[in-house]
Amino acid sequence: MSTPLTPPSGEIPPTIFSSADELAPLPKLRLPKGGTRSEVAYQLVRDDAMLDGNARQNLATFVSTYMDEHADRLYSETFDKNIVDKDEYRRTAEIEQRCWKMIANLWHVPDVTKAIGTSTVGSSEAAMLAGLALKKRWATARKAKGQSADAPNIVLSSAVQVCWEKFCVYWDVEARFVPIDDAHPTLSGDQLDAVVDENTIGVVAIMGVTYTGAYEPVKEISAALDRIQAARGLDIPVHVDGASGGMIAPFLNQDLEWDFRVDRVVSINTSGHKYGLVYPGLGWVVWRDVDLVPPELIFRVSYLGGDIPTLTLNFSRPGAQVLLQYYQFLHLGFSGYQRVQRATMDVAEFLAQEIDTMDEFTLFNKQLDIPVFAWQRTDVGGAWTLADVSDRLRMTGWLVPSYPLPDNLSDRLVQRIVVRNGLGRDLAGDLIGDLRAAVRDLDSGAAGHSAAASSTRGFAH
Ligand SMILES: *Cc1c(COP(=O)(O)O)cnc(C)c1O
Repeated sequence: MSTPLTPPSGEIPPTIFSSADELAPLPKLRLPKGGTRSEVAYQLVRDDAMLDGNARQNLATFVSTYMDEHADRLYSETFDKNIVDKDEYRRTAEIEQRCWKMIANLWHVPDVTKAIGTSTVGSSEAAMLAGLALKKRWATARKAKGQSADAPNIVLSSAVQVCWEKFCVYWDVEARFVPIDDAHPTLSGDQLDAVVDENTIGVVAIMGVTYTGAYEPVKEISAALDRIQAARGLDIPVHVDGASGGMIAPFLNQDLEWDFRVDRVVSINTSGHKYGLVYPGLGWVVWRDVDLVPPELIFRVSYLGGDIPTLTLNFSRPGAQVLLQYYQFLHLGFSGYQRVQRATMDVAEFLAQEIDTMDEFTLFNKQLDIPVFAWQRTDVGGAWTLADVSDRLRMTGWLVPSYPLPDNLSDRLVQRIVVRNGLGRDLAGDLIGDLRAAVRDLDSGAAGHSAAASSTRGFAH
């Protein structure tokens, strides 16, 4: 008779890993009948999550994977706050206001006392709100003139982030995608006349195209819409999707006019959890004037004898991220943000230059706007694709995606790196070493145990 693996109940196993629940597969469909000790449950969940990729080596994501110890402490002390309890957590509500106003001023809002803004769970929710405001304002104006408001459309690059496709589907707005091509790698002014009409609720300009990191020329797009207004009488507003660039351009491209300095820009969103340097999920949206938000989108919650407008889609949401944003604003200040973004950009430029020296690859964009860049496979022979390179890099823990570009360049595969605060120059050097090793292996047709796979840095934690 063999001894049972499970110790008799009540007996303390010598290690967590010799406890009964560690010696059985985890429940996956039904709630387990009984529970397990908290330290065992903790270890079980932690170990399951350990099999995810290592966040700091995840070069696919734009979302913050590093904050300092004080931020971590603040987070763990405030994760019980629900942002919607404005009356109970009045100070958090007040801090939310301070944050969007600081952001509005970073974006050169003409008069912050006339502006309106809110935190959201991310840029996706912010985009829904900005898009809804455009749609409802357009519909109200149409109806006031006795015109039909049945067929709204919105003009965007085919390279928009998926949240805009969702916006169009969720709220029945026709998406008029302007395809990218080699001559127009982003949306540009000269393409607009053919696609806008009286049913166009707005044009979305992206500051930091997800696929390539490029800025769209907001000022040029706006000037084209000025010409269209003069010629055709259509007054079409611009929303800027600054999910990533909204927190880069104010620090690194101060002379670039992409924000509320451009009159036609009515609203801007950014992701606090991207280059706002806060953990997920936090977004921001600001309108230059409260009149740009239809009153029916604003719900009032009584607050300190006055009332505070709320205009988010969700009701409950964590409030801690808002406090973390304020923490970063106080801690870093303008100069600190500038230094962090500059350092991130320097690492991105180093990586781009190194990859540019490799014959196998051609940068999609030589000039970086945000610390994000993409490259293609140069046609120099070799029976491998960028997808093979992604696979190889995974062996050393690096998550570097490859994917096709959107229409009309969908036959082109690119690979992309998003550099974030937390990827230092030395780690970036290791990445280049691993990339070169991957290419060497692929060129020599090596399979299985490769130089890349035997690198000393495996799965970090
Ligand atoms: C990331 C991103 C979004 C979506 O933002 P979330 O904060 O992830 O919801 C929208 N637009 C652009 C350009 C993005 O890069």
